[in-house]
Amino acid sequence: MAVFDVDLFVIGAGSGGVRAARVAAAHGAKVMIAEEFRIGGTCVIRGCVPKKLLVYASRYKDHFEDAAGFGWDLAERSFDWPRLAAAKEKEISRLSAIYRDNLDKAGVAIADCRAEIENAHRVRLRADGRTVSARIILISTGAAPVLGPDVPGREHAITSNEVFDLPELPKRMLIVGGGYIAVEFASIFARLGTEVSIAARGENLLRGFDVEMRFGVADALACAGVKLNFGMLPTRIEKTPAGYRVSLTKGIQIHADQVMIATGRRPNTSGLGLEKAGVECDSLGAVKVDAFSKTNVESIYAVGDVTNRVALTPVAIREGHAFAETVFGGKPEAVVHSNVPTAVFSTPELGCVGLTETAARAIYDCVDIYLANFRSLKAALSGRREKILMKLVADGATDRVLGVHILGEDASEMAQLLGIAVKMGAKKSDFDATVALHPTSAEELVTLRTRTARFEREIPGPEGPDSGPLD
Ligand SMILES: Cc1cc2nc3c(=O)[nH]c(=O)nc-3n(C[C@H](O)[C@H](O)[C@H](O)COP(=O)(O)OP(=O)(O)OC[C@H]3O[C@@H](n4cnc5c(N)ncnc54)[C@H](O)[C@@H]3O)c2cc1C
Repeated sequence: MAVFDVDLFVIGAGSGGVRAARVAAAHGAKVMIAEEFRIGGTCVIRGCVPKKLLVYASRYKDHFEDAAGFGWDLAERSFDWPRLAAAKEKEISRLSAIYRDNLDKAGVAIADCRAEIENAHRVRLRADGRTVSARIILISTGAAPVLGPDVPGREHAITSNEVFDLPELPKRMLIVGGGYIAVEFASIFARLGTEVSIAARGENLLRGFDVEMRFGVADALACAGVKLNFGMLPTRIEKTPAGYRVSLTKGIQIHADQVMIATGRRPNTSGLGLEKAGVECDSLGAVKVDAFSKTNVESIYAVGDVTNRVALTPVAIREGHAFAETVFGGKPEAVVHSNVPTAVFSTPELGCVGLTETAARAIYDCVDIYLANFRSLKAALSGRREKILMKLVADGATDRVLGVHILGEDASEMAQLLGIAVKMGAKKSDFDATVALHPTSAEELVTLRTRTARFEREIPGPEGPDSGPLD
């Protein structure tokens, strides 16, 4: 039998890779992990965690404004970006150190460098050229921002990788893109005091999310002062003495101190040596895997964003865990990618789980919609205009709840808990049978008595499995 240096070599110490390495090691495997940037990966270093810290920072603006209606007089306020950036850096360094410590404690060897595949059982460490043989190789290299559209002056633009460490708060910012990352940063910077514009190719934001919620988010951004330019992309970015002049299609020009491109992310597979081992990728460069995260090469697996299934941290973690249980724990586990709760951390935030109305209507013959649109109790005194929007999508034939979508304060927290009910196959009647908790916003979800709409298909379509929230 062949003898290998390690049982498992993990390329990339982000959400998926770290979990897989630790669980495999706990099952007795000899594990090595390589990381070319900082341990913790996108989520910890330049994704979910630092972003949520910025979201918290930005929301103080609303809290300060709302306080007046409740009798508070607040003194003059000011915001210090370098202080926030330093506090953020301290926290992510702390988390990264915990990740490293946990790997150490699990007995996982760490190589702080880039690793590339040499063949089905061999990896080369770029730091010193050393090669390591492994019975199993796990690719967990994540994804990176796409820099398109390729226009003159594009090199002046930043991406979500750089935005966290700007030396100062930009006075004017153009964000190119309409996905969740573009929306979240527009909402953050607008509240911190930046004049924000969005330029997006589509006619609305957040493609794939439920339609009412998309309009609700666009309205909320507009209310926060974000200028929305739909059906437009940059054609040129020019440096000027005062910043950048960005020409958009339709002949519009926008002046900004920072231009951020947030037009999507691409799996990190280029230069990884996949062709040397014969690993197949799809047209977007994502590693193709089966339900157990195995590639077409027997000894090579892939988890997380690099496989472009559902690009979220908890999904990468779940895939990494399932991989390790399958290969080293003797418990084959396939990850189910339906009904994954998700959120957009705009203000107000969007939380959802299950199918959108569009997706449900494409799959089911009879779809019932329940909608609620109301002002929160808090808004009665704060004077804030925005409304909370809740939408429940149910199968008209079985009464099963197929999807729930909420735009409002704490929607992400509600979506996490609703995820349990939807995953368990709860029916609308189960929601109705649940006693309300008063006074809350969430109580509306169990008091949605009147159906807003029913959509019936004349020609029955094929019954299909649930997909995620993206339609
Ligand atoms: C701005 C932003 C906000 C986000 N917000 C959320 C959110 O709120 N909620 C959520 O669930 N998800 C969010 N995500 C997505 C989430 O961060 C990813 O889904 C998650 O990090 C994927 O984990 P992963 O293990 O697949 O990859 P990653 O965490 O990206 O880890 C991959 C690691 O591999 C390393 N690497 C790459 N190539 C090599 C190589 N050849 N050798 C060695 N190391 C290598 C990289 O440096 C990286 O550290 C966000 C992403 C971004 C960009």
